[in-house]
Amino acid sequence: MSDKVISVHNLVKKFGSFVANDHLSFEVYRGEIFGFLGANGAGKTTTIRILSGLSKPTSGEVMVAGYDAHKEPEMIKKNIGYMCQKFSLYEDLTVKENIMLYGGIYGMKKQLIRDRTHSLLERLQFEEYGDRLIAALPLGLKQKLAFSVAVLHEPKIVFLDEPTGGVDPVTRRQFWEMIYETAARGITVFVTTHYMDEAEYCDRVSIMNEGKIQALDTPAALKQQYNARSIEEVFIRIARPAKQ
Ligand code: ATP
Repeated sequence: MSDKVISVHNLVKKFGSFVANDHLSFEVYRGEIFGFLGANGAGKTTTIRILSGLSKPTSGEVMVAGYDAHKEPEMIKKNIGYMCQKFSLYEDLTVKENIMLYGGIYGMKKQLIRDRTHSLLERLQFEEYGDRLIAALPLGLKQKLAFSVAVLHEPKIVFLDEPTGGVDPVTRRQFWEMIYETAARGITVFVTTHYMDEAEYCDRVSIMNEGKIQALDTPAALKQQYNARSIEEVFIRIARPAKQ
């Protein structure tokens, strides 16, 4: 895991005078599962939007998949996949129509989309759902499908912003099996979650508070450093405001 796919140095993002990302510096490697944690409002989505080419940094150096977030956000968008809880699949299109649509957006050829659609539906054991509307699927299936669609074009990195919000533990576990398989293929998985059991599954975890990265290491090293039994314990200590 020595290939750097994300390199961030002194990233600052301001909204007016409010500093949402305050001098962030970190690197993420090929095939790594990188957990990006923080309390509500810590600034995670702000960072993910910058790393995905959807928003410009105020200052700092940000390289993603070999492209500069200031100058080449369009190239970043082509080389990454993105899934968030709120905007994923189109509810009034069928499963197959969604796959075709996203494949087209990612610039894939029709035949390749057809081939991948077939193998994707087979892998997910979704064949019978191909012509169903997304609106008719249970949340867990939607999330799995949204993830598969986000990596349909085999991007270098996939960003997952709270991908498992609201789904049951069994489905979350299955979702994480998909994350492992994806990382094993060399795709970097950059994931935010509020579920601390999921944080334990990551190769490395960063914990953010008030726009700053307060800790970054493997789950085992963080637990040792904070003399804690779980990442949840580490998180609670870091994410708690200093005055309490
Ligand atoms: P959550 O876990 O709740 O999704 P988060 O860590 O992703 O939180 P962000 O959404 O990045 O947090 O928000 C960080 C801060 O930046 C919040 O205080 C938010 O109100 C502010 N913020 C985000 N986007 C904007 C914007 N477009 N304009 C002004 N303030 C914003």
